[in-house]
This record gives sequence, structure tokens and C-alpha cells, in this order.
Amino acid sequence: MKITDLQNRIEEMVQWLAQFGADPEGGVTRLLYTSSWVEAQRALELKMKEMGLKTCYDEVGNLYGRLLSDQSAEGSILTGSHVDTVKCGGKYDGAYGILAGMLALQYLKETYGAPSRSLEVVSLCEEEGSRFPLTFWGSSNITGTAPVDKLNEVKDSRDIPFITAMKEAGFGLGHYCSPRREDVVSFIELHIEQGAILERNQMPIGIVEQIVGQKRYTIECVGEANHAGTTPMAWRKDALRGASEMITAILEAADRVGAPLVATVGKMTVEPNVSNVIPNRTVFSLDIRHPHAKVLDAFGEEAISLCHSIGEARELRMKVEKHLDALPVEMDPDLLRRVEGICQDQSLPYTIMPSGAGHDAQMMARHYPTSLIFVPSHKGISHNPDEYTSKEDLAAGVKVLIELLYQLGYKKETE
Ligand SMILES: [Zn+2]
Repeated sequence: MKITDLQNRIEEMVQWLAQFGADPEGGVTRLLYTSSWVEAQRALELKMKEMGLKTCYDEVGNLYGRLLSDQSAEGSILTGSHVDTVKCGGKYDGAYGILAGMLALQYLKETYGAPSRSLEVVSLCEEEGSRFPLTFWGSSNITGTAPVDKLNEVKDSRDIPFITAMKEAGFGLGHYCSPRREDVVSFIELHIEQGAILERNQMPIGIVEQIVGQKRYTIECVGEANHAGTTPMAWRKDALRGASEMITAILEAADRVGAPLVATVGKMTVEPNVSNVIPNRTVFSLDIRHPHAKVLDAFGEEAISLCHSIGEARELRMKVEKHLDALPVEMDPDLLRRVEGICQDQSLPYTIMPSGAGHDAQMMARHYPTSLIFVPSHKGISHNPDEYTSKEDLAAGVKVLIELLYQLGYKKETE
């Protein structure tokens, strides 16, 4: 493979992977442990083999493609991203980081042979939290921080238990090795920005310095179903009315705190969801993010206390579950400087920036020196079938990744 082929190769591979879970509207839906997810992992496994990598799965379904060291250097340099998507997501989110890693390893193998330290690409099984109320399932298993003791309670929206779904996909059955990795020397994730900063500034590369902290909650309000015609307003225990007040109160509080705090209620179910029955149960999601832990913690407490006081006033029974509590995370400063140097050598304009989106890199960064590198997202659109990054930008990211992996995997430490 020639370096000039990278543009076409990466673009072709993105289109190729997007067929697994392709939606009629042009997007991709590849939820954890569904048939499209299984097909994508199997296809990636075959492709990795074709590219000359040694493949293996772990017990939760993370897929590795390995380029083993010809020396006895300890540990591995790991690159990759997640294979799952949101419902009706784009072709690039997650997929790009895996495919770029595969191409980089193939290029390095063909050009330089075996590395002095093993290089691996990982197709992480899950990051988005789109099927189950659980995020970073792939990376948290690698770092040994997955909530394995709570899995029995986890179900998807169709009441399929997590464990059942995992076993039906062929994992969690004792066939593969444990997902825990203690031998990772560095983790590098290449990802689309999912925002418009790079495109607006005409920067092909963003080097992430920090990922914002994030909390996600599920808030359940239970009242009483009753006749919409015969129940006076004052006697009602209307779960939807209570939830509406909670949502308004939380979002207004977020406006008062101001940027960079963001708060989102993106999902809600109403029961019985019948036009002439007072709702007896509502469940809604709350997602809040901020780069400083103190502000995020204080806002999380405020939001939940607003829910409890409104719930009490509306005579609703409340259940609040926090299923994600990710602190803001710093990326490794040495790797950041190294990536900066590579961009300068390749005359690639770059910027150093925070990430407002969560990424596997934030789980990895607590355990291994980690670098997160962004390429532009057209108009900042992501989690949408219109997600797009030009092949020039995709290839620029792959070239940076190749050089970084070359420095970490082939060169003797000189610095
Ligand atoms: Zn992603």
C-alpha cells in the first residue's frame, strides 16, 4: 500500500463497514450484541486477518488485531475505537478509529515489518449506551472498571436482559480470554470531532487535551392512572405533569449556570400513553456535562434535588438512578506534544482542544497514557445519517496515526 492510496482506502473501508446495520434512510444502527453488531465484528475479524493481523476476541466481544513484536519488549501500543453506533447514527463515529488503526497497522507491517513493541487495533464492543443503560462497556472491561456486579438488573427497552443478549451474541460463555488488560503501554484513539470547531477553523487535526465530565441519570416518576374526564385536577397524581415540571426546572437551572455546562433530556417514556388516561408512570433521561468536576457535581445534586421536591409536591414516587458518572479526564501531555510535533513535521494545521463528547479514551486515560486525535466533522453533524468527513481529512488523521505508531512501536526511545 502506498501512502497516496490512503484516501481511497479509508473512504472505501468506511463505506464497507457501514453496510453492517445499514438503515434505509442512509444511516447505521449497530446496537450492542444485535445481529448487525455480530456481523460487523465478524467482518472486521476477517478483514484484519486479510491485512495480516493476528485476531482474537475477549469475553465481552472486544475484537483485537495484533501486529506482534519481533523482540521481547513488554506491553502493547493499542489503538482503536468503538464498533457500536447510536440508533440511526452515522458511518464515521467509532468506525473511523477502528478502520484507521487497521490501515495504519497494515501500512506499518508492509513498510517496516514486525515492530519492536507489539501494536494492536481494537474494535471495542460498546461505547454509546444506546441499547442498554450502560456506557463504555468495551473499554471499562479492558480497564477493569465495568459494573459487572450490576449486570443482572440491566435490560434493554424490550426487556431483554443484558446477560442473555451477550450470550446470544456468543460472548460471556467462557470461550475467550478475560478482557482485562494490564499490559497496555499507550492507547491512541482517532475519532471524528462531532462538533464544528475544526471545520470552521479549517484545521484538519484536533489534539484533545481534556474530555469533559459527564453524568447520566434515569429518572422515574410514578403516580396514579385515572380517568381523564372524571378526576379533578387537584386529585391527580399525574406522572407526566410532574416530569414536565422537573425537566423545565432542570433546563432553566442549566441556563442560569451557563456555558460550558450542557444539560439534555433526550428520552422519555410515558405510561400508559393513552390520550384519555392520566399518566401513571414516566421515565426520562438526563445527561449533563462540564469540564470541571466541582461544577458538574454541584449541578447534578441541584438537578436531582429539584426532581425530588417537585415529585413530593405532585405526590409522585421517585426513583433516580445514576448510570454514568465520568470525571473530566486529561489526555497524556507527552503524547500530546508528540502528536503536535508530527503535525508540524507533516505541515498539518492543528489545534489543541477539549472534547465535549465522551470517548473510550476517557476510560483508558485513567489507566494508560492516552491520546485522542480528532478529524473534522462536516457542519459538526454527528449521531445522524448525515455525518460526513472528507477522504482528505480521514487520510490526514491516518497519516498522523501511522507516524505516531511508528514512533511508539518501531523507534527506540531516544527522548
Ligand atoms: Zn464515538
